[in-house]
Amino acid sequence: MTTEKCTPGVLYLVATPIGNLDDISYRAVKVLESVDFIAAEDTRHSLKLLNHLGISKPMTSYFEHNIRQKGEYIIERILNGETAALISDAGTPAISDPGEDIVKICHERGVRVIPVPGAVAGINALICSGLSTSRFSFEGFLSVNKKSRTEHLEAVKRSTYTLIFYEAPHKLKNTLKDMLSCFGERRITIARELTKKFEEIRPTTLSEAVSYYEENEPKGEYVLVIEGCTPGEAKEENELLTLSVLDHLAFYTNQGMDKKEAMKRVAEERGVSKREIYSATIRE
Ligand code: SAM
Repeated sequence: MTTEKCTPGVLYLVATPIGNLDDISYRAVKVLESVDFIAAEDTRHSLKLLNHLGISKPMTSYFEHNIRQKGEYIIERILNGETAALISDAGTPAISDPGEDIVKICHERGVRVIPVPGAVAGINALICSGLSTSRFSFEGFLSVNKKSRTEHLEAVKRSTYTLIFYEAPHKLKNTLKDMLSCFGERRITIARELTKKFEEIRPTTLSEAVSYYEENEPKGEYVLVIEGCTPGEAKEENELLTLSVLDHLAFYTNQGMDKKEAMKRVAEERGVSKREIYSATIRE
């Protein structure tokens, strides 16, 4: 193995394991050994990894709530000739983790950034999903705010790409229900605790997943990989939008959907409130 010569004035974005501590590249270890300091999301958490690797290095914290001020401090040190590595609690920095902001400032201030690749939970869930990997969309976490969640799901509903979401265990049940109500029935692969002792990859459907987690309490870390809308469905939905509101409603009620549910569905598909749909039925 050659030793990595770190160039002064550089920020290295170093991927760390998402569970199994052996999932770190030789190069990542060499970079962590040779930089002047490491900026970590949670220094205590990352110390365990560094101890496992036998690396002792000055660390500074860089997390969600000190991003701007700490980013400036880290960049000042780099501009003064030091080299730094940015790591997060798990996986690749800047992917649903701190990193995006400091990289933007690095570009503004002429600081070079170098990636040191490794694990990303979403990509590993995708490759094990059995769903299409040719085109996919990384969606990260849904907001806790009900309105923003719904808007996010509505915005990707007609995407034909495979969708990748991150989710915390205590929110999983509601998220699956929201997805079922927005997307309708679809295939989903739920990847839990990747690379860890209780790793589980569950190819299922949204409705089966909702029932399963009514009986089984979610535990651990989850990635949800959901099949995209089929081109046929996307086309049908686009055609529905060219209909009048009454005809759009009739399309669903003729299939046996009750009137209230049909109004909700039409409102969602047209991106308007149920009240607007109701008013249109009186007008038309
Ligand atoms: N930067 C990370 C990456 O590269 O994937 C993601 C960090 S984000 C704060 C944490 C989320 O990633 C978790 O809530 C979970 O959705 C997902 N995740 C991380 N590790 C995982 C694992 N071992 N198995 C399944 N999901 C995981």
